[in-house]
Amino acid sequence: MSLEKYEAVIGLEVHAQLMTASKMFCCCPNRYGSLPNTNICPVCTGQPGSLPVINKKAMELGVRAAIALSCEVHPESIFARKNYFYPDLPKGYQISQYERPYSTHGHIVVQLKTGEEKRIGITRIHFEEDAGKSNHESYGTLVNLNRAGVPLIEIVSEPDMRNAHEAGQYLRALHSILRYADICDGNMEEGNFRCDANISVRLRGADKFGTRVELKNINSFKFVEKAIEYEIQRQVFAVESGEKIIQQTRSWNSAKNITEVMREKEEAHDYRYFPEPDLPKLVFSLAWLDQIKKEMPELPQETSIRFKKSFELSDYDASVLTGSKELANYFESVVSHSKNGKASANWVMNELLGRLNAANKEVESSPVTAIQLADLICKIDSGEISGKIAKTVFEEMFATSKDASSIIKEKGFIQISDPIALESAICKVIENNPSQFAEYKAGKVKLLGFFVGQAMKETQGQANPALLNELVKKILDR
Ligand code: ADP
Ligand code: MG
Ligand code: ZN
Repeated sequence: MSLEKYEAVIGLEVHAQLMTASKMFCCCPNRYGSLPNTNICPVCTGQPGSLPVINKKAMELGVRAAIALSCEVHPESIFARKNYFYPDLPKGYQISQYERPYSTHGHIVVQLKTGEEKRIGITRIHFEEDAGKSNHESYGTLVNLNRAGVPLIEIVSEPDMRNAHEAGQYLRALHSILRYADICDGNMEEGNFRCDANISVRLRGADKFGTRVELKNINSFKFVEKAIEYEIQRQVFAVESGEKIIQQTRSWNSAKNITEVMREKEEAHDYRYFPEPDLPKLVFSLAWLDQIKKEMPELPQETSIRFKKSFELSDYDASVLTGSKELANYFESVVSHSKNGKASANWVMNELLGRLNAANKEVESSPVTAIQLADLICKIDSGEISGKIAKTVFEEMFATSKDASSIIKEKGFIQISDPIALESAICKVIENNPSQFAEYKAGKVKLLGFFVGQAMKETQGQANPALLNELVKKILDR
């Protein structure tokens, strides 16, 4: 199979829950995890005679998202009914937006692993209320309407992505922006940030798109990338063996690592959209839009530019450190105490993130605080401990949450910068390795590194590395 002959085309639809106190059209709490069917009222359970009232905060967060995603915001838009029957949708329709969404024509610039940037278009953003949730049990299905009427925005991308990595990076950037600006908490396990991926393949160079398959509700960045990769291969394989791709909805089976058919086009919904008669036209005043623009929080892109300027970081470093607002805040706090931007960036990205990843922890629950890490960096800069020992100290800090100072004291980790102590260690190494010493003397100067390594070992890694290097050479050559 020759994947190279083909090109994938990917467009993503993301549903993001807005962080409001109440639901989109009633005053029930927008809260996850309450007892089933306790956050409900006549409006969100579709009782006859009840009427929706628009939540202004939801509109504000939606507009904030549109601004953050460089979209046009339309001062006038309309809500539409999207009709379908489902047990968790008591009204028999979802209030959404269709022909006239509140926002269109945006984009995100994403960072690729090749070092390049790519601009991915956003077709539209519209408001939508969430449906309830059906829980399938062995004895039947239980419906929980706590989520019915929770405010969402749906962000539809242009079919601009060409592989799983680009789609993953788009999603990560989108997730980060929405969290940064306090629009959506991004919790994927609770379903607050959900993605459908549309995928087709075509021969490289073809100008028409192939038939697309839609992958539904994939709940992690990793799975999105895996599912897309699988689906691209599946489609190429099908096309290569003369099969026709049929328009389908498929789901990702994370146990089997494959995509599976959910429904075919014949079963595709006809939603019979029409303008929502219970709601007026949605009108945003220019003064209100200006106000939201003025109050916009700093976005990851802006933080990244500031980091690059202030701390001389690379594009890549800056993009990693602005991956979440919490991480950016943590890093800023480290730098403000350590006064060493480059070292702080390295420690946060390599040691801290490495350990956090391995422990499956977020920076918010890091056992090492920003101030503790800054303190460790200061101890390296002042020569109290070597960078090498600092790594051991850090490991201990991560395991115990103790300060660097107490670990250094407990374990006697002070850096040895005393030339007399170092000299005796070096002499001992020379005595123990007479043949290497003879070879060195005979001209094999490469062995210098060997002696430095042995002497470092002799001091349990506590020697000041620069001084040790200098002394080893001096002693060997005398
Ligand atoms: P629907 O609402 O029925 O899902 P849309 O036209 O709104 O359909 O498209 C949804 C998503 O599918 C968009 O993100 C769009 O970029 C993407 N898309 C459309 N056509 C293709 C295609 N041939 N291949 C891949 N993605 C596509
Ligand atoms: Mg769709
Ligand atoms: Zn309600």
